Amino acid sequence: MDNTNSRFCLICDELEQESHLAEDIRIDREKCCNCGGCVGVCPDDALVLMDTELKVNIEKCTLCRHCLLFCPVEAIEIGAGDSPPHQPETDIIHTDVVVVGAGPAGSICAKYLAQSGVDVLVVEKKQEIGVPKRCAEAVDFSVFQKVAIEPHPLWMIHRLYKAILHAPNENCVKFGALTQMESGCIIERKVFEKHLAKDAICAGARYWLKTTALRVLKEKDDVYGVVVGHMGVEKTIMAQITVAADGVDSKIAKSAGMDTINPLNSYMSCFQYEMAGLSNIDEEAIHLYYGSTIAPGGYLWIFPKGNSLANVGVGINVLKSQDKSAKHHLDSFIGNHPIIFKGASPVEINSGGVPVHQTLETLACNGLMIIGDAAQLVNPVTGGGIDLAMLSGKLAAEVAVDSLHKNDVSKKSLSTYQNRWELLFGKQLKRMHRLKKFMGNLSDDDFNRLADILSSRNLQDLAEGRFSGFVKLLLKKMPSLAKFAVKFLKSNS
Ligand SMILES: Cc1cc2nc3c(=O)[nH]c(=O)nc-3n(C[C@H](O)[C@H](O)[C@H](O)COP(=O)(O)OP(=O)(O)OC[C@H]3O[C@@H](n4cnc5c(N)ncnc54)[C@H](O)[C@@H]3O)c2cc1C
Ligand code: SF4
Ligand code: SF4
Repeated sequence: MDNTNSRFCLICDELEQESHLAEDIRIDREKCCNCGGCVGVCPDDALVLMDTELKVNIEKCTLCRHCLLFCPVEAIEIGAGDSPPHQPETDIIHTDVVVVGAGPAGSICAKYLAQSGVDVLVVEKKQEIGVPKRCAEAVDFSVFQKVAIEPHPLWMIHRLYKAILHAPNENCVKFGALTQMESGCIIERKVFEKHLAKDAICAGARYWLKTTALRVLKEKDDVYGVVVGHMGVEKTIMAQITVAADGVDSKIAKSAGMDTINPLNSYMSCFQYEMAGLSNIDEEAIHLYYGSTIAPGGYLWIFPKGNSLANVGVGINVLKSQDKSAKHHLDSFIGNHPIIFKGASPVEINSGGVPVHQTLETLACNGLMIIGDAAQLVNPVTGGGIDLAMLSGKLAAEVAVDSLHKNDVSKKSLSTYQNRWELLFGKQLKRMHRLKKFMGNLSDDDFNRLADILSSRNLQDLAEGRFSGFVKLLLKKMPSLAKFAVKFLKSNS
């Protein structure tokens, strides 16, 4: 290949001489915002934007530099291989609290902190809050009041009053909400997350997007902030308290030395289509399907969003799925249910992981608090975590404010958050873990028989962690399962 490039520039009409190798063209992914502008300006079709990844075909690139001139964020470099190694600029910023992650946990935490006059900076690695969505968007309506959010029609788009549980043989049990507050709803998550950030910003919080927290700053056992990468520039954020709200991909708590691993057998692999054109489905209900063929170790869901739209997804335990992926299970289900899906197509693909492991043992250390999915605060039976993320964000903020007032950000002081969490939600979560274990050991036949005997009332009790009525019912109608239920469900807490 001729390494010397010589061509007329399409912008200035002058002969361009380049002696760099085409391999010398580099895209700084931390800076690139995936706008596609360079693709449009490249005369040689050497650039392709694949969803969110820009690729250069070095065989085609003639090093004309048009992309480099065009790029609004200086993400393209040519010939950088010849320059001295890049020295990251280092700024030092001081704040009371740095929150890593602008999901529901981080933004609610930031709002409560800012409302109390705390200087709070939220860093978010994505360039757009809420995108891509990794969610089926169902939430208990009652949670909004608990975190002082006024539901808005821009994001609170659909109400749900029932749950319909389908056994493996597709017999079903219906479960209805008793009051408005007990009902659920579907949120438009991308709008919702921005709304939460807007509330926090209006209360006084600062947000930095496209800013990845790389590691905590730590001396001995004390965390005192984070180092972040912000569009190619490294910055040091010194804070009295660091809040890890960085979700399932949490690395912040880990970098502080905490054990945050998600074991494969308690980490659901999820795949979902948001689909349009569904028919013959009750749009006031969430639909949950169980069975070892449909969703091994988990369940499949259809959460209607109204107007023929729905989130249709599946969460599976990969260790029980015999090498078949979540996508495989979902596609099979859709193919086997033409009455619902004939004429329906996806408008969005979502995937992700849900931690259904026990809550982390420690939710705070000196200068650090962990909230939301990062702390594995998820209902293990439903996989729902938005409500717990927001409630943990609120609680952590309240304790952080007290600790800052007392000028004591030690583990002991910040652990008040964990103690209060345990008091408010710990028992309930533990019960849900027992129920999850019990369900994980049921055969398809057990599920089918349970669907025949369970009433709406029984299901409500189970969902709220009251097991005694259920055990009595089993003793009467399925004694073989009763022993088993006692083993898993019986406990004093
Ligand atoms: C397919 C699927 C469906 C689901 N459906 C539901 C549902 O219907 N209802 C429900 O209640 N829950 C659902 N969940 C779970 C729910 O999405 C989570 O429990 C919830 O998002 C937790 O909120 P969070 O703020 O803790 O974390 P996240 O929402 O994950 O937010 C974490 C944020 O931190 C950012 N971040 C991560 N690392 C860094 C870093 N190093 N630096 C800067 N920023 C960083 C991320 O970009 C992200 O914005 C679902 C999950 C999946 C995967
Ligand atoms: S113009 Fe710059 S920001 Fe836009 S896609 Fe190209 S490299 Fe990325
Ligand atoms: S240098 Fe020119 S040919 Fe190469 S990718 Fe950029 S615009 Fe295309």
